[in-house]
Amino acid sequence: MYSDNNLIKPTSKDACQLLSHEEIARYSRQMILPELGKPGQILLANAHVLVIGCGSLGCPAALYLTAAGIGTIGLLDYGTVELSNLNREVLHTEHGVGASKVDTASSFLKTLNSHVNIVLHKITLNKETACDIIQNYDIILDCSNNAHTACIINNACVFSRKPFVSSHLQGFECHLRVYNSADGGPCYKCLNSTVDLDPVTGSMGALAGVMGCMQALEAIKLAAKIGSASSGLLFQGALAKFEKENLQERNKSCEVCGTDPVQLNKLIEEQICDIRTVHHTNGYKNGDEAAKVMPVKELSGNTGFHENYLICSTSNEVVSETASGNGSSSHKMELSSAEIARYSSQMNLPELGKTGQLLLSNACVLVVGCGGLGCPSSLYLAAAGVGTIGLLDYDEVEMSNLHRQVLHTEHGVGTAKVDSVTKFLKGLNSTLKIIPHKVVLDSRTALDVIKSYDIVLDCTDNVATRYLINDACVLSNKPLISGAALRWEGQITVYNYKDGPCYRCLFPKPPPPETVTNCSDGGVMGVVPGIIGCMQALETIKIITNIGSPLSSAMLLFNGLRGSFQKIKLRSKQPHCVVCGDNPTITKLIDYEQFCGAKAEDKEAGVSLLSRDQRLTVLEYKNMLASGSNHLLLDVRQPVELGICCLDNAVNIPYKEISRAHRIEQIKLALKERKTSQVICLCRRGNDSQLAAVALKKVLQDCVVKDIVGGLTQWARLVDNSMPIY
Ligand SMILES: [Zn+2]
Ligand SMILES: [Zn+2]
Repeated sequence: MYSDNNLIKPTSKDACQLLSHEEIARYSRQMILPELGKPGQILLANAHVLVIGCGSLGCPAALYLTAAGIGTIGLLDYGTVELSNLNREVLHTEHGVGASKVDTASSFLKTLNSHVNIVLHKITLNKETACDIIQNYDIILDCSNNAHTACIINNACVFSRKPFVSSHLQGFECHLRVYNSADGGPCYKCLNSTVDLDPVTGSMGALAGVMGCMQALEAIKLAAKIGSASSGLLFQGALAKFEKENLQERNKSCEVCGTDPVQLNKLIEEQICDIRTVHHTNGYKNGDEAAKVMPVKELSGNTGFHENYLICSTSNEVVSETASGNGSSSHKMELSSAEIARYSSQMNLPELGKTGQLLLSNACVLVVGCGGLGCPSSLYLAAAGVGTIGLLDYDEVEMSNLHRQVLHTEHGVGTAKVDSVTKFLKGLNSTLKIIPHKVVLDSRTALDVIKSYDIVLDCTDNVATRYLINDACVLSNKPLISGAALRWEGQITVYNYKDGPCYRCLFPKPPPPETVTNCSDGGVMGVVPGIIGCMQALETIKIITNIGSPLSSAMLLFNGLRGSFQKIKLRSKQPHCVVCGDNPTITKLIDYEQFCGAKAEDKEAGVSLLSRDQRLTVLEYKNMLASGSNHLLLDVRQPVELGICCLDNAVNIPYKEISRAHRIEQIKLALKERKTSQVICLCRRGNDSQLAAVALKKVLQDCVVKDIVGGLTQWARLVDNSMPIY
């Protein structure tokens, strides 16, 4: 993004400065990230991003840009959908074969997010058209996977001074690079010698999914001005190995971005026609920031990743269909010609071949959780042709899911998550057996469901369910592909596979419940679970087809802010593990909520610490304000949340800091200034405010400390409708 960029945009939609209540509800989980907040979300809403190529990279990139709320997304592709695209180009459908790719892609994107303005460019990008189109956008994604197109994009981006995010795939290897960034990064031509790839012979959809998501993440960071971008990444998919690339600096004598004006003018005349408004001033500074070496993040206990998918209930719903894993009857020995056409590009991978494709079509995989991780992982399993996919989730779609749970739609809010995912997967690949399980996974149901499958993906969000799935997989001897995402970070590993450790080997004891449950939760950048979910699909495919080395006894840690991955070695299988060790004491499933001291969900887990007389309802507080009663209002949320909405005159002290000495002094001073001994604590939903009140009562013995029931959510509902609920 360049501040002096005031070129005419492709649409007349006015730059929006404010977010509607619906948008705040929709994006709240990412807006509570301090790095983004409301200002960052507004930057996204005003951003114009062009996705060049609606294929294997463009589909996931466009999907997550749309979910994240990028205001204007251009889709550029001349092609039409073919059956052979569907193993990796996941926004197209069988029904759309023969139709224009930009049409099929945009038709789903509009149902995911109707706020986004999607501009279709059904053209071939060439020297004549490139500059005209590119100058209307802020950020360009090169999803063409084609060196010739990359050169054209590069020239136009250099001349229009736009950053572009590129990835290239070659078999199981891929590069991600941000070229021409405003901080002086190199252009494509500066590094050309190292990035030329042989013609693509085969590709794996899930791998393109990871890279397309990475491109979306870099575009989001550029649009919201978060972090630094001029770096590269090399990913070896079969080994689950990422390396940071130290990109060279910009090459001063580069024939495209070098600053020799004579050469540049010549190039413009020769290569780019019809450029009317190019002013190639020296807008770059030579970058002297080499890619930083990343410190190793320690894995210290369970990190408490949580999202809300599994609700406990007393429902007696039964599973009507079952999968047929583990060597039951209908094993496929041959592929039909339609299947060969559909999967040809991945069958061209020497690691996979026809043998691997047959293994995939005979595999039965259970995806537990149809949310931020379950959507992308099930999507790429279906594209790759995993014959039977079970989808397990009891939950229903909410508006606040849509920024990361990309297979649901606005129209589907209030309906079962398994239904929207099933519908999407069947549209992409009708040849599979998709089995929805709209049940609660608990100690009574887990073994029964899991026994029909070969491999289980844990795409859930809470500790109790993680232990439950782990124990059920150990007892049924199934590998478990476990993913987690929170804020800008994610992790993935494989448990219980070929003498590797299980979850309990690593985390014998659950974390204290109070470190996990919190009403002002941490939030998550939507594309981070996208990246981890695609990785889960890739690991699953590798295990089914015996490719490379799966992440057993190793964990991949992802940091989205840095755009870096780290692979750490995990401790090996523990002989004393209570479930997978030599003398296990857990031989059947237990009560996991009791074991963890926490519910197997995180739906507004109501804290009840204060008695009624120690609390105020929002109406009582409204009357108190009207009467002019002297008091100190303490807002105990994170500072970023006050940017979304707050009450006048509130003093902000985050709940986690409330007991610190300098904060107590700050409160005492504020009470003195206001000549009062009355403290009212306020938070988002009335949970943290109780915890804060309990803590303050201990140190402010002379004061009356109360909190507000239901917090700002209740205030917005009953007192002030102009306030958004997030
Ligand atoms: Zn250059
Ligand atoms: Zn174990």
